[in-house]
Amino acid sequence: MNTNEILAKLRAKYPGENEYLQAVQEVLESVEEVYNQHPEFEKAKIVERMVEPDRIFTFRVTWVDDQGQVQTNTGYRVQFNSAIGPYKGGLRFHKAVTPSMLKFLGFEQTFKNALTTLPMGGAKGGSDFDPVGKSNDEIMRFCQAFMLELWQCIGPDQDIPAGDVGVGGREIGYLYGMYKKLARQYNTGVLTGKGSTWGGSILRPEATGFGALYFTQHLLEKAGKDIKGKKIALSGFGNVAWGAATKATELGAKVVAISGPDGVCHIPGGITKEMIDYMLVMRASNRNKVEDMAVKFPGACEFVAGKKAWSIPVDIALPCAFQNELSEDDAKELAANGCWCCCEVSNMGCQPGAIHYFQNNGILFAPGKAVNAGGVATSGLEMTQNAEHISWDAKEVDDKLHFIMKSIHEQCVKFGTRADGSVDYVKGANIAGFMKVATAMLEQGTV
Ligand code: GLU
Repeated sequence: MNTNEILAKLRAKYPGENEYLQAVQEVLESVEEVYNQHPEFEKAKIVERMVEPDRIFTFRVTWVDDQGQVQTNTGYRVQFNSAIGPYKGGLRFHKAVTPSMLKFLGFEQTFKNALTTLPMGGAKGGSDFDPVGKSNDEIMRFCQAFMLELWQCIGPDQDIPAGDVGVGGREIGYLYGMYKKLARQYNTGVLTGKGSTWGGSILRPEATGFGALYFTQHLLEKAGKDIKGKKIALSGFGNVAWGAATKATELGAKVVAISGPDGVCHIPGGITKEMIDYMLVMRASNRNKVEDMAVKFPGACEFVAGKKAWSIPVDIALPCAFQNELSEDDAKELAANGCWCCCEVSNMGCQPGAIHYFQNNGILFAPGKAVNAGGVATSGLEMTQNAEHISWDAKEVDDKLHFIMKSIHEQCVKFGTRADGSVDYVKGANIAGFMKVATAMLEQGTV
């Protein structure tokens, strides 16, 4: 494989699809050396096939807002790769959603899902619908209109969507209600992240954040460090940040910053249980303002407008919001303030310059596809429970999540250990995921 040649072709074919091209470049650069030791991959053109989604569905979504005005958005489902199982991945509702964004997310999902040890292919979907400022009724009407088109593309053994940015338990509920009405199929396994009384797995809402902290614990342990007493900054205040803040606090760390698009909340004494609970209220309000936390908890929490979480001095940074949210300048600011570890919880949360800065300056770094895989892994556990028509208790799910995150860490160490004994987690995660998908594709022939 010649990475530069493949990337040049993709750039010419998909001009302006920057997130997608960035995600492909990161993976190809990591795997090139290993790939070239396998002439059978080259002969079967595995890489050329793997960077293209299997198919993309695009559809119009028309709905009526609270003022009676007709609104139109675009919906998508990118079925990226089914080599190791049915298509699996979340739905993102955000005003910036484009085919490029969903292709990057579907591509990443393919390798992430391979790392989980569970048989799931990769997919992603969503819409440019902006939930900010929308009423509950508007969210419901949009979800119903979206499912009116999506239902024909999905199924419990075919393609299983879940949540992502802008899609949580409430949205999955509205989507599932409409799916049943249209498909007349009552198999709960068609979506994951459901409510716990109608097929949802216990701990699924917490799983991405909990898994990220379990991974961080393994990474710190390998580096001879302990999470207890460490200061953590995290970005966002949605479902992922909520789970991460909960587990970090439980493990004895101190979350001193959370952020939103409007600025950062500095919490010098560490986030409290009441504040963590309030994150859920803030998410449900659709206001998208972290300042609300400082208004609710004056004194304990100071809001600084226009600043990122990365401006607060901490030991560990956990990006939990959106792709490319941490730049090279942010990485330098974090390091200058004493930060020595960054575990990416959002998908592709760090810009390439930030990753290189961390890696070249001895700052521990692990990529989203390894760190945040606990979310989709627990979706996989939800699918198993649905298929067996049973539900496991919290201990059983948590034990399995623990085991999966430990195994993902081990795979990173196996494929990413450098000559000096330190671990390149980016390389390790990419090679481990890639080898599994590539081998499955090869064994299934030229299709
Ligand atoms: N959206 C999540 C992710 O990026 C979860 C996907 C799922 O549970 O299918 O992995």
